[in-house]
Amino acid sequence: MFFSNETLQLVESAEKELSVQFAAADNIAMKNQMKILDAMQKHRLSETHFGGTTGYGYNDGGRETLENIFASIFKAEAALVRPQLISGTHALTAAMLGNLRPGDELFSPTGRPYETLAKVIGIKPTPGSFAEYGIVYKEAALAADGSLDYDAIEKGITKKTKMAAIQRSKGYCWRPSFCINEIKNLIKFIKKIKSDVICLVDNCYGEFAEEEEPVEAGADIAVGSLIKNPGGGLAPAGGYITGGEKYVAAAADRVTAPGLGRDAGPTLGLTRLLLQGLFLAPQVVRGCVAGSALMSLVFSNLGYSVLPLPFEPRTDIVQAIRLGSAEKIKKFCRAIQQASPVDSFVTPEPAATPGYSGPVIMAGGSFIQGASAELSADAPIEPPYNVFFQGGLTGFHARIGVLNAAETFLRDTFV
Ligand SMILES: *Cc1c(COP(=O)(O)O)cnc(C)c1O
Repeated sequence: MFFSNETLQLVESAEKELSVQFAAADNIAMKNQMKILDAMQKHRLSETHFGGTTGYGYNDGGRETLENIFASIFKAEAALVRPQLISGTHALTAAMLGNLRPGDELFSPTGRPYETLAKVIGIKPTPGSFAEYGIVYKEAALAADGSLDYDAIEKGITKKTKMAAIQRSKGYCWRPSFCINEIKNLIKFIKKIKSDVICLVDNCYGEFAEEEEPVEAGADIAVGSLIKNPGGGLAPAGGYITGGEKYVAAAADRVTAPGLGRDAGPTLGLTRLLLQGLFLAPQVVRGCVAGSALMSLVFSNLGYSVLPLPFEPRTDIVQAIRLGSAEKIKKFCRAIQQASPVDSFVTPEPAATPGYSGPVIMAGGSFIQGASAELSADAPIEPPYNVFFQGGLTGFHARIGVLNAAETFLRDTFV
């Protein structure tokens, strides 16, 4: 990779302008590091917990300690943290289906949920979807500016509403990610209308980007993927479901089998990696947040619309950029792929991807397949041609990703 003086100056001057944002990210990382250390000490984490189990995975003290540590960090009664949860979508599906019954209504107050969930829920007719089990789906569309539409939310809650699924991060939507404070207000609003609505937060990409997590904002359940923020880049697979004891137990019965719940599930020798990744996560997330802010300012200076804006507070690691053409999306993703440690020599192309409706391009030369806590960019190939950038196992690597994207866009002429 080669960076011209023009590129270096563009990125360096942006970094100087962002010093206040970087200091804020340091402060949040420090608080989260302390929180995680406290939880590990409180639960007397010890060498003996790293052994792991096979087969049924009964009497796995390491797994129980891992789950107790997650519960403490998220200020929750319980947690299910498993390598058997293969993705965020899988964890969300289990948390929802475990807590819903035929005739119940599932309500999204944050607009259309993440792409892969459209099939899970049955918004897009799919065999085995929630719709086939008689679970009714309702949503409140977001306002035109992407903010919450409280009138529509009030109208969407009925006496059958069992669960509200709140999506913190933007997914592939051009809308703000909802910060912990907004989620707090939203949950208060929902519970005032119907106090027994189970409030679930899709926390993907949000963990450790702020000082508090969704349960502290009143959520009953929070769910996420270990190959995003809380795996710290080391977790080779996994997901988590945390929250109230009865909700986590119901989700566990869906992950394993009714009656088996949390008592089974081998850790296969992964416990140490999951805990070590968790321990590193605040530092990794700090680098990702700083990298996204830098990308935001650099591409804003290059004349593109960006979301969030460079100096806005952040609640996740995702940076959206409106590039405006399929060609530019491909160029951007190629620049990120080229700056990756693995498969740097391959050219990402848009392709059909399980769970997504149209072709999606994904750049990510990552150590863990699909791990988007690592330097990555992805986009559906459709107007208005937004790309979503995130990740970087080190802040230095995120910076290199920004440099290479900037170099590409300064050098290339687009038709
Ligand atoms: C990544 C993500 C998910 C889950 O995606 P998986 O690829 O299944 O892990 C869900 N919701 C949001 C908002 C996400 O960003």
